[in-house]
Formats: sequence, structure tokens, C-alpha cells
Amino acid sequence: MRFADILGHDKPVSIINSYIEANSFSGGFIFSGPEGIGKRLVAQMVSQKLNCSAVDKPCGLCESCLKIEKLVHPDLHIIQNGQGQIKIDDIRGILREANFRPYEGAMKIFIIDDAHKLNPDAANALLKTLEEPPKDALIILITHKPQNIIKTVLSRCKRIKFYPLARAGLETVLLKDYSLDKLTAHFLGFYAEGRLGLALKLKDSLGLTQKNKIFDSFVLSTKPLERNLMEQNKDQLHDCLNILASWFRDIYLLKAGLADNEIIHLDRKHDLLKLLSKFSFKQLDDIMAAISESLLYLERNINNKLLLHNLGAICRVI
Ligand SMILES: [Zn+2]
Repeated sequence: MRFADILGHDKPVSIINSYIEANSFSGGFIFSGPEGIGKRLVAQMVSQKLNCSAVDKPCGLCESCLKIEKLVHPDLHIIQNGQGQIKIDDIRGILREANFRPYEGAMKIFIIDDAHKLNPDAANALLKTLEEPPKDALIILITHKPQNIIKTVLSRCKRIKFYPLARAGLETVLLKDYSLDKLTAHFLGFYAEGRLGLALKLKDSLGLTQKNKIFDSFVLSTKPLERNLMEQNKDQLHDCLNILASWFRDIYLLKAGLADNEIIHLDRKHDLLKLLSKFSFKQLDDIMAAISESLLYLERNINNKLLLHNLGAICRVI
């Protein structure tokens, strides 16, 4: 894959390239933009480019590039902290390591994922390193909530904004760079709404077979939907409801006469077309509203009885 056209993020990549050419891609940077669009992947690619030993960087093949890809390069440090805050203990390593010379590469790179989770103590401790960054250290803060990062940290970093790819653009990237077949690339590109990171995450867990299984067992099955849904655990139910919403969205849009290639489930267009006469627009509106409401209940851990009642209402329409 060439760095110039990675992941379709042409604009941020060209800004990064101009910093690298000017030899000023060091110190603090913030990669901001919606969740799951590939900011972290770009940060890793940049790390490869800065440390690659080939002429055409990043080659993706040299020892340095491979170590970075496997996240085992001694000069690449990634800080992330799941659900909780990023505390001072989590970044102490950066504060110490940043002062040493790189072990193997040309640059030491610190990637702080979900940087909006830095608690005030950690953010303040980071400030000093951001104020006087060593020349061979790069700190990349990745965030989809830059407004939650303290102003003093924001003001010491150069900001690079990322945007979701157009859905069709993501489909092309998945086809070309990830060698997916056309129907899978279309589904993931459209279902993930242009968010590359999400599409790549779903690539392994939600292929055509899995998402079609949800359609077949919930929409086309004679078994009551309600029972089908209540057999799932919370995460499965969450995925099922989202997939179901996308099926009904497609039925709605096809019924409204939208171009076929705008639907998510292009691979099952024929089955969807057969369902158009089964639902009125009002019924489709009600089903989609009930699904969103159920998702909300699920997120708020509202008791199953209410959720069940709501799903039952959807089932009666289906
Ligand atoms: Zn390389």
C-alpha cells in the first residue's frame, strides 16, 4: 500500500507529508475526527514512514516496518486505557522514555489513543514534554472528543483533522487495499458509513454470511422475532438490532425509489424487493423507531421486561 493514498485520507496525509518534508514532524500532534475512521492506522503508518530504512518509505517490508506493524518496535509506544481514564501512571513511561535517544529507529513515537481520557494530572504532566519536546520524539494524541482535552495541551499540539470517507470511497479502499470481494466491500463500506476503522473491525466479525443470518433468522423466519432476539446476550442483541435497523432502512429507501447502489444490503436486493409491499411507510417508521428505542434501553441497561415489551411491539408489526 502506498503512503500517498493510504486509507483515502488524502488531505491529512498530505499535511503530514509536508511536515515530514520540512523535517518538522516532531513534538505534539493531535489527530482528531470521528471515531473509527482510521486515525490510529494513519499514526502507525506515519511511524513506519519515519523509521523505515528503505528509500521509498514506508516500504512495509523492512524490519522496522514489520516491527511497527506488529506493534513490537522498541521506539513505538502506544498508550490506551479501555473504558477508564488515562492516569499519570499510564504516561509516566512517556515522560521518562522521551528523554532517551531512539533504540533502533530515527524517531521515538508515542501514540496516546482516546487522548480525551487523559485525567487532569496526566495532562498536566504531559505538558512539560510537549513544551520542550526532544527533536527525535513525536507524540500523537488521537481523539474524537478534542473539546474534552485541556486547552493548555491543545495549544501545544499541531492539529490534524480527519473526516469520514464517502461510503463509496471506503468501498473502493476496501476493494483495492484490503482485497475484499465487491459485495462485501459494498456492505462494509456502506454499513460502517465511511468509518474505515469500524469497517476493518467488522471485516472479521460481520461478513455477508453473519449479517445475512440475522436477516434470515429474524426477518424471514417463522419463529417469533421476540424469542429470537431475547436468546441473545447484550452485545449480540446490540449488533442484531443495528443490523435489523439497516435492513429496514434499506426496505424504506427502496420503497421510496432510491437508486439500488445506495442500499447497504445490495447482495440481497432481490429479497428486499419482495418485502416492499409487505410494509407501509408508517409501519417501517414505527419499526425503526422501536429499534432505536430498544437500543437506547439496552445502552441504559433498562430492565429486560421493558425491552421485551418494546421488541414485542416491533414483532407485532413484522
Ligand atoms: Zn520499511
